Amino acid sequence: LAAKLETLRELPAITTDGQVVQLLGNIEFPHEVTQCLERGADGIGLYRTEFLYLGREDDPSEDTHYEAYSGVAKAMGDKPVVVRTLDLGADKMRMLPNPEDERNPFLGLRSIRLALRNRDLFRTQLRAILRASVHGNIRLMFPLISTMLEFRQAKMVLADAMEDLEEAGVPFDRDIKVGMMVEVPSAVVMMDRFVEVADFFSIGTNDLVQYCLAVDRSNKDVANLYTAADPAVLRLIRDTVNAAKAADRPVSMCGQMCGNPMYTMLLLGLGLRSMSVTPAAVPEIKRVCRSVSIAQCEAIAQHVMTLENARDIKTYLRDELSGVF
Ligand code: PEP
Ligand code: MG
Repeated sequence: LAAKLETLRELPAITTDGQVVQLLGNIEFPHEVTQCLERGADGIGLYRTEFLYLGREDDPSEDTHYEAYSGVAKAMGDKPVVVRTLDLGADKMRMLPNPEDERNPFLGLRSIRLALRNRDLFRTQLRAILRASVHGNIRLMFPLISTMLEFRQAKMVLADAMEDLEEAGVPFDRDIKVGMMVEVPSAVVMMDRFVEVADFFSIGTNDLVQYCLAVDRSNKDVANLYTAADPAVLRLIRDTVNAAKAADRPVSMCGQMCGNPMYTMLLLGLGLRSMSVTPAAVPEIKRVCRSVSIAQCEAIAQHVMTLENARDIKTYLRDELSGVF
């Protein structure tokens, strides 16, 4: 198996009819970059930065941020590294300033909302990302964007940080690409406007599923209802991919859905050509990509979109996958 992985690492993720698929890795800690390289990832599609808050009460310094980002950027060389700004709150380390106990933390002051409410903290991180951008191919991504105003406000804080660095003579990548997660249904609905302001998109199915179906992703009592195979979720994914492609904006996916080989053909059939998965899953997803044709995937996607429930869709997809190997 080790030998097999070894050969697979050097091979591109290319379908039997010649479509190249970008396979990226998701990381939560800087050291996971090694695994991404070992498994043959084309880059980092999601660098979660919440780890900086692990086990500490105070805020990490700008240099602590900077060391973490520049290290990963250097290790990846010219391969892309998408750094996602702080996604704290709800299920993720809830010790930040919270006005009151939230009854619905997933609908509360989390993620980009928290960052916009804590400007110093946000600016510190943005400055660090910008400083690190001279060491590799860094892109910046905002999480949980639900309105245009939110994205514009985040870009404004970024512009301020750029101005400060410029005045201080600190180098950074002036043309850094700025993208957003698509993980709230309102963002999908507004995609025709978001393509005007965001350089790229990454679909976060972990949250998109919970907000689309009104199912708490961490509540085991409703875990049976939580599935990316729901036809409503699939329509949101399809619409996001189509809207991004129509505007020539890169679109990827970084939710757990695309690390599950059961969904690979469907996602390719819906037009997705970039996926970011847990590093351990890179070889397996690559193997599926290398075993199927886009024509075959499109036929599968077309059929899936006629089905009316997640159970039928999963049964069908499992069946199709087992026919491939
Ligand atoms: C997602 O929501 O799909 C995602 C990738 O972000 P996280 O799991 O960190 O919320
Ligand atoms: Mg998310």
